[in-house]
Amino acid sequence: MAIQFGGLNLNEKENKSKPETVSEHIKCLIIGSGPAGYTAAIYAARANLKPVIIQGMQPGGQLTTTTEVENFPGYPQGVTGPVLMEDLKAQAERFGTEIRWGEVTSVDFSVSPKRIVVDESTVITADSVIISTGATAKYLGLEDEKKYSGSGVSACATCDGFFYRGLKVAVVGGGDTACEEASYLSGLAEKVYLIVRKDFLRASKAMQERVFRNPKIEVLFNHNTKSLYGDGLLEGANLIKNQGKPDEQEVKIEVQGFFLAIGHQPNSKVFADYIETDENGYIKTTHGTSKTNVKGVFAAGDIQDPVYKQAITAAGSGCMAALDAEKYLAELE
Ligand code: NDP
Repeated sequence: MAIQFGGLNLNEKENKSKPETVSEHIKCLIIGSGPAGYTAAIYAARANLKPVIIQGMQPGGQLTTTTEVENFPGYPQGVTGPVLMEDLKAQAERFGTEIRWGEVTSVDFSVSPKRIVVDESTVITADSVIISTGATAKYLGLEDEKKYSGSGVSACATCDGFFYRGLKVAVVGGGDTACEEASYLSGLAEKVYLIVRKDFLRASKAMQERVFRNPKIEVLFNHNTKSLYGDGLLEGANLIKNQGKPDEQEVKIEVQGFFLAIGHQPNSKVFADYIETDENGYIKTTHGTSKTNVKGVFAAGDIQDPVYKQAITAAGSGCMAALDAEKYLAELE
């Protein structure tokens, strides 16, 4: 019996212990449901490739954890990340894209058609594959981050900021994400520390100004995090100011929330046996195309973009991947 992923309820999914040998053949499989995946789906569906999207662990991708998006063309008043993703999803579905729950747990790209296993149980074969799995938040690597995970430590201010209303929080990082999260949290928390390891912010000028103008945000330049403390729940962080310099000193801040905003790791591990990546795990594509080193496998969005990483560039590369897949399939036939 072919198990349809979209109709699979969670209990059924959890109870499934034995690997299935169910096979289903798809013309164009899209892995990941951010702006790149949905845009690829819109184009592929309109080209009658009958695309199927496997949504992945975070349906809608990173933008579902973003507040206001002011720079996506077509929304002159701005739009929230979740609404933008719902709009993209609806547009993909309008042309017949099938969107399914699930995570790709292994692949075999040495065969043709490609073999893809979803949730370690459902086997799909596909003539063409578009990888748009995006990237995941990075952590500092401190033991304490694990210890206080869910009880003070988070990598998503929009997901968890609500729990820190009226409390003190810290955000780590000096890029656009950190500034955006600090600004967002300032609307909820009593005070926000922005912990920046250098003596400048990497964020855009507009974002920097927003932070500097905000009386609730205190920017701690030249600070690194040494450890976190608290009895059960997070109570504070031990920082080092001017680390490695003659005037190095320890600084203690009292915070109940500690938010990481130090960049992202591309989600390419599951493809690593077949797909070439750079030293940081970003998938390599042939210049000016979405083609990977494997024929019939294309990459779009943050998974192949260490430079621009914008929703609109991800969407553009999703379009490219669908057009490349369409051409590949036409030649195959
Ligand atoms: P970035 O890579 O731009 O910034 C990461 C920040 O984290 C840097 O300040 C970096 O410091 C710091 N950092 C990295 N590792 C550590 C560490 N171990 N300890 C302490 N600090 C650390 O990532 P972002 O997520 O901010 O942004 C990614 C991309 O997305 C960018 O191109 C950005 O412009 C874009 N973006 C755009 C938005 C918008 O337009 N609305 C919103 C959010 C992101 P250092 O500078 O020292 O390397």
